[in-house]
Amino acid sequence: MKNLDLVIPIDKENESIERIDEKCINCGYCRNVCENEITVGRMYDLGITGRPICINCGQCANMCPTESIQEKMDYLKVKKIIKDKSKIVVVSVAPAVRVALGEEFGIERGTNVEGKMVSALRKLGANYVTDITFGADLTIMEEAKELVTRIKENKNLPQFTSCCPAWIKYAEIFYPELLSNLSTVKSPISMQGVTIKTYFAKQKNINPKDIINVVIAPCTAKKYEIKRKEMNDSSKYTGVENLRDNDYVLTTRELAKWIKEENIDFINLKEDKFDSPLGKGTGAGVIFGNTGGVMEAALRTAYYFITQKDLEDDKIKFEDVRGMQGLKEAQVDFDGLKVKVAVANGMKNAKILIDKILNKQCDYHFIEVMNCTGGCIAGGGQPKTTIIENIETKKKRIEGLYTDDEKLEKRVSYKNPEIIEIYNKFYGEPNSKIAEDLLHTTYKDKSYLLNK
Ligand code: SF4
Ligand code: SF4
Repeated sequence: MKNLDLVIPIDKENESIERIDEKCINCGYCRNVCENEITVGRMYDLGITGRPICINCGQCANMCPTESIQEKMDYLKVKKIIKDKSKIVVVSVAPAVRVALGEEFGIERGTNVEGKMVSALRKLGANYVTDITFGADLTIMEEAKELVTRIKENKNLPQFTSCCPAWIKYAEIFYPELLSNLSTVKSPISMQGVTIKTYFAKQKNINPKDIINVVIAPCTAKKYEIKRKEMNDSSKYTGVENLRDNDYVLTTRELAKWIKEENIDFINLKEDKFDSPLGKGTGAGVIFGNTGGVMEAALRTAYYFITQKDLEDDKIKFEDVRGMQGLKEAQVDFDGLKVKVAVANGMKNAKILIDKILNKQCDYHFIEVMNCTGGCIAGGGQPKTTIIENIETKKKRIEGLYTDDEKLEKRVSYKNPEIIEIYNKFYGEPNSKIAEDLLHTTYKDKSYLLNK
């Protein structure tokens, strides 16, 4: 029997990751990252809980040198479904995938391979390919409106971002006293999923029960997020029983593996474009993948909601919330209204910040939390790098998304023509009744998991 005393325990029923004991060399990297970076490993006692606690972030898989820990793969299931011609497979791609996927094919780190990626997905058999930068813009519309309302009513502040499912699960288990502070908006992938099975289905005249939604994400926790019981609002809206808003999540690594197995010559693929609607995002949607990106995107739109003015070109970049520091702070002046914000880059730093807030050592209006250091560009499902190259790779991916933002003509979510159209035709206005029903969610106190 192998001695595996240094590994992090993983439950067989974990929705996102698994461990193959035969491949383990007992190096302890997984336990180290879980205890010291993610902090989960040191926040519970297995002797008391009886079961491992996990927020599905996949950082242990990223660190594992032998592939002993890896994501639970779903691409073979999707491959099979694609052959069933009665199904319409809609693949949606998260912002951070495009600046990392190329690494798997020897392309320089941080290069945006969006066009080739869309082309590869069509070759793999997707009926439609949509862009979750649209879902990110939709998230911003809802979240910025929610923030403005909370500030005006001085209620449930600070507001915490809610697009990182690992952070949401962390708060539900370890800090349930903060649940009313979490933004109620769903993440971009969940907004995209529910919108595809309702609005998009109507636009394309497809029966929602024939749609299979597949998300390509940099993140293993998204595999858990789509299985949350409440992610079935498309079922409630359409009346179709057992409909899930999203059906499968594949990581960036899984997509690369699938492309390689099909012998697709990725490097020489012609560039292709996303389908529409739900195929257009702004620079604000693109930078969602970076630490500080959700905050910056939200501030660009919140500024407009409060002042009814566009930010001048030289003020559109919020430099104070950019960069790889663990904690970033800024005070933003919205025509006399001073808004205090903070960004926690990685769960270790989020924990420090939360403990200060609960001890009343600081106060903010709005806080971004991302589990993974660097943001989604460094998610648990991204191409692996060596420890030596790790920081440089993150920087290059971050730069890749900021460069994309600079190049885009529209850089604020409220100017996305597809966002304007969807509010005109379907959602009415941000935080409307139908938007609340389909684009917002609820959280539960899960601290009971800490006791047997
Ligand atoms: S997925 Fe994250 S929380 Fe779960 S064991 Fe791995 S590092 Fe820890
Ligand atoms: S990182 Fe991988 S090889 Fe090392 S102890 Fe953990 S599971 Fe085993």
